[in-house]
Amino acid sequence: MQLGERRKKLDSDGRGLCSVPMWNNGLPAGFCENEAYGDNDPKKYDGYVGGLACPDHGGPKVRVFMDGNMYCAVKPDFITLQESPAGFGETKDEAIKELHQHPGLLKQ
Ligand SMILES: [Zn+2]
Repeated sequence: MQLGERRKKLDSDGRGLCSVPMWNNGLPAGFCENEAYGDNDPKKYDGYVGGLACPDHGGPKVRVFMDGNMYCAVKPDFITLQESPAGFGETKDEAIKELHQHPGLLKQ
C-alpha cells in the first residue's frame, strides 16, 4: 500500500493524516483516518508507523503551524486564536512550551 503525501508531510496548517495501517479480520483495511500533527514517538506507540501519527498512535498532541514569522502551537480542539488557547514562539519547542504554560489563557 502506498502512503499518500498527506500521511508523510504536514500541510501549512500543521495537519496531516495518521499512517498507521488498520486491520480487519487479519486483512489490511487502509489506514487510521485520524488527523496527525507530526511523527510517532516509539515510546508511546511501538507498532508499525509508515509516516505521520495521530495522538492515539504516539504522535504529538499539539498542532504547530507558522503564523506570520512565528510558530503557533494549538490543541486539537482549536477553533480560532480568539477562542482557543495558543502558544507562540520563534521555534516549535518555544511555542509548545508557551501553550503548556498558559493552557487557559486566551491570546488577545
Ligand atoms: Zn492513528
